[in-house]
Amino acid sequence: MASEPVVSLDGITKRYETTTAVDDLSITVSEGEFFTLVGPSGCGKTTTLRLLGGFEEATAGAVRLRGEDVTGVPPEARDIGVVFQSYALFPHMTVGENVGYGLNFADPPGGMSTDERVAELLELVGLGGFEDRDPTALSGGQRQRVAIARALAPGPDLLLLDEPMSALDARLRERLRVELKRLQQELDITTVYVTHDQEEALAISDRVAVMHDGGAEQVGTPRAVYDRPATNFVAEFVGDNNVFSGRVAGRDGDTLNIDVGPTTVQVASPDGTASSGDTAVFCVRPEGFSRGGATNQLRAELESAEFLGWTTRLHLDWEGKELLARTDAAPSEIVSVGFEPEDAHLVTVE
Ligand code: ATP
Repeated sequence: MASEPVVSLDGITKRYETTTAVDDLSITVSEGEFFTLVGPSGCGKTTTLRLLGGFEEATAGAVRLRGEDVTGVPPEARDIGVVFQSYALFPHMTVGENVGYGLNFADPPGGMSTDERVAELLELVGLGGFEDRDPTALSGGQRQRVAIARALAPGPDLLLLDEPMSALDARLRERLRVELKRLQQELDITTVYVTHDQEEALAISDRVAVMHDGGAEQVGTPRAVYDRPATNFVAEFVGDNNVFSGRVAGRDGDTLNIDVGPTTVQVASPDGTASSGDTAVFCVRPEGFSRGGATNQLRAELESAEFLGWTTRLHLDWEGKELLARTDAAPSEIVSVGFEPEDAHLVTVE
């Protein structure tokens, strides 16, 4: 028998007076997984994490930890470590006392003393020897490491992180996310992470749930969500993308002919059941566009170009619709973008 998931959200709904923050959400997280809830502001990520942590009770549905319904079980009895957006360190305590605070409610694992455990955790987060420091004299990144060490101190079964890096500058955020991932793998601790930053979610996670309006639009590996977005929302939200809508004109083997305004393009549809007249939504990533010679060709006008160092992102106007493309060369006024049928991903047909 497959082992019980560490986390199982079973059709949970959380309603406030006028808002449904989480709407019939079902998700499972397996042992050792780094699982991320990602989505725009207000989509219900934090509420979902708070339900998991026991800081809120669901209006309907069940939260299960290792198969056990934890409804009514308070946060401190859930065997979880939590790190919030703000550092929430106790300013009147030293760094060591802050980390040790997590051990007031649970013994250190493996028969260690509190001092030994605190030293081990600080070492683990790259702050070895910082025990006697004043937390207010630390940088934002260091404070957040202390908060992570504090959450990990009792050796929890599950780690919950709510936008732990949002207060840090972009450079530091990127460095800390690499370290966090390494730490998570080293400890092999099941982790649920919340971010609105889709790039961060792709970079750090084993699987992500892309959330929208309180529900999960798609749950999958970063690659699956990026390469094969299941809905229009996911296609638009995750990474730069060009999403087209058109009418199916016919099928030609494994490709559909789709009318998109003035032209008909060919889009791969190996297992589709589309019929003529259906509305098809498909997307092509900027990196899926090539210049000349491709099967499908769109002639667009250059609106603006952003130099990003490793590439230049082009904002193009095609029939009144904005397209994003990339180039290494100097862009010209008229840009012909081409793509092969298999460089397009069919999102929905109805
Ligand atoms: P953000 O990225 O901005 O933190 P989020 O995805 O974490 O957003 P939530 O904080 O979970 O979103 O909020 C989801 C919805 O529920 C929002 O519309 C929010 O206004 C509402 N909401 C959250 N908490 C409460 C509350 N205590 N009372 C009333 N409404 C709430």
